[in-house]
Amino acid sequence: MTGSMEGVERFDSPGKGRGLRVTRAFKVGELLFSCPAYSYVLSVKERGCYCEFCFNRKEGLARCGKCKKAFYCNAKCQKGDWPMHKLECSAMLAFGENWCPSEMSRLVARILAKKKTQKERCASEKILLIGEMQSHAEDEDNEKRQMSEADIAGMHRFYSKHLEVPEHKDLLTLFSQVACNGFTIEDDELSHMGTAVYPDVALINHSCLPSVIVTYKGTSAEIRAVQDMKPGDEVLISYIDLLYPTEDRNNRLRESYYFTCECQECKCKSKVRTSEQGREGTEEHFHELLEMCEQSLEEMGAVFDDANVYMLHMMYQAMGVCLYMEDPDGAVRYGEKILRPYRC
Ligand SMILES: [Zn+2]
Ligand SMILES: [Zn+2]
Ligand SMILES: [Zn+2]
Repeated sequence: MTGSMEGVERFDSPGKGRGLRVTRAFKVGELLFSCPAYSYVLSVKERGCYCEFCFNRKEGLARCGKCKKAFYCNAKCQKGDWPMHKLECSAMLAFGENWCPSEMSRLVARILAKKKTQKERCASEKILLIGEMQSHAEDEDNEKRQMSEADIAGMHRFYSKHLEVPEHKDLLTLFSQVACNGFTIEDDELSHMGTAVYPDVALINHSCLPSVIVTYKGTSAEIRAVQDMKPGDEVLISYIDLLYPTEDRNNRLRESYYFTCECQECKCKSKVRTSEQGREGTEEHFHELLEMCEQSLEEMGAVFDDANVYMLHMMYQAMGVCLYMEDPDGAVRYGEKILRPYRC
């Protein structure tokens, strides 16, 4: 049995397998849906800055009295986090300085713990179950396999006391699922705060001309339209940074997600590329990028304010392009815009 969600539905996307499409019209900036994280983890380096449970940033967080490593808004957040924090609290004490699981292992440990208690479809799995997320364990090259093996060793070392660690083969599948479907949660300054899985969001296919973006509210993901959408349109996000040149983008997509993008942008760019040469072609590419940024900023500016994460991201990239094109005035203009929301 599959669940459902208002305004969107699962369907078979031609040439892509399963996907998500809208069942009604959405305007630029409109929220399609919000998805709570199935599991999430705050980065070790962000400890003390954010609450481990709700990802709120504030001064004077209270620390866990036992390990003194986890920080919370209040007793309620601490209590809420305990089912996950208990996987690490005493292990951190026992291992001391030697406690060093990868963020991937930490997230997978939380997924395993949640799977154990969560038997029903949860609020993050209205359309796709966590177990249905795509895995590419069979396609992994040696380097990736070694990384997974190291992560698995970390699981056994740091978590086996508090967790029933599944069979090796199942772990490889789970690590691959998380590698292909995990999301990095960014804070307002676009720095990496943590990692999470959102099964329903994992159903969305990639395009270099995305129709939606993902932003974060606490640990929840919000899917918002960046194009006007009509009923039946596929919901598409970009899995990678759009400002890489076409070939780069596709290398990255193949490396991390095991497919080649065939969106309009990629199809016509790969034709153009064969006739382009050297620096001239590159320069043209950067002019196009800057235009793309500016156009996008203009469209989005009508909906989002300058402090919005997506706007900042675009401005940051536009600044990079200006620097590359040796346009210091342009770079400074964007740089100042980026800093503005941080000035009081
Ligand atoms: Zn909190
Ligand atoms: Zn603790
Ligand atoms: Zn593409």
